[in-house]
Amino acid sequence: MEKIVIVTGGAGYIGSHTVVELFLAGYTPIIIDDFRNSKPWILDRITQIVGKEITAHTVDCQNELAFNEVLSTYKAIYGIIHFAADKAVGESVNQPIKYYQNNIGSLCVVLNALKKFDIKNFVFSSSCTVYGETLTPVVTEESPIMPPASPYGDTKIIGERIIQNYWKTTSDAKVMLLRYFNPIGAHPSALIGELPQGIPNNLMPYITQTAKGKRDSLTVFGGDYHTPDGTAIRDYIHVSDLAIAHVKALTYLEKSSTKLFDYLNIGSGKGTSVLELIKTFEEVNHLKLNYQIGNRRPGDVEQIFANADKAKKIIDWTCKFSLKDALLHAWEWEKSLTT
Ligand code: UDP
Repeated sequence: MEKIVIVTGGAGYIGSHTVVELFLAGYTPIIIDDFRNSKPWILDRITQIVGKEITAHTVDCQNELAFNEVLSTYKAIYGIIHFAADKAVGESVNQPIKYYQNNIGSLCVVLNALKKFDIKNFVFSSSCTVYGETLTPVVTEESPIMPPASPYGDTKIIGERIIQNYWKTTSDAKVMLLRYFNPIGAHPSALIGELPQGIPNNLMPYITQTAKGKRDSLTVFGGDYHTPDGTAIRDYIHVSDLAIAHVKALTYLEKSSTKLFDYLNIGSGKGTSVLELIKTFEEVNHLKLNYQIGNRRPGDVEQIFANADKAKKIIDWTCKFSLKDALLHAWEWEKSLTT
């Protein structure tokens, strides 16, 4: 019997890569996305990669009636992977209610649907942002949850708590929260990748757009951190590896005969500074990037990277792609874009 998996936000950056990996692993992904932050042509690209059209429904996940109507057309739904959310940290500071309304509102709709349609398996996009201003650079799942630096981060902390409270009321729900570190790169085919709207907030698309000449110069936010080269350290992970983590998490949930609630760090386990990322990008792609050191960005933590031992142990997940692969693929993707 086919295993239908609803992927909210399935046309987005991480969602689209996960749809591909789900399909390749034998699942039947169904996309629910309202394309507010993604493009419908990504669906054709997914088809090109997997050789089959993936069903997609244009629905805002906050619209409970419409969401449930879509779900009611499927006989048995195996699981939901919930990506649909707003994700721009800076914007969330200026428009907090937009973030609480969309990220928390849609999560509640999805959790109600789990119960209504008796769907057992649930995977949620959380973030390493829940660790906030970390006490140590390397974080395990036992590291304390710190006060959020932004409303976006708060929606992830609150979201995790809402899910746990939901889970406590069920007799058989199986839930995995994935705390992502910094996803970068694109599918090796260069057919799907990140599509930032307007001026990118994140480092990777800013680098590729600068390399392409779309932006004049990259500003490195802070050169006076207490790190070996003075720039901030993050844990960058190839988006396809992150996508595979979702598939492995789902397969793990499926195997459990009892109710289950757990959370995993999904990161490479390696810290990379902004300057190291720039230099490696220049090296693997044989180009020079125009950049200068500027002020620190408010809200940024100095360094954070994952201890991802638990993901290795529990779902047998480790990164397949190197940092260099991710930087090559990010550049191939950028070059393929016409705008
Ligand atoms: N960064 C930078 N210049 C930029 C964008 C980001 O130096 O134009 C830095 C940022 O300060 C952080 C790292 O790159 O140290 C990763 O930032 P990003 O926004 O990609 O992800 P975050 O870790 O904030 O979620």
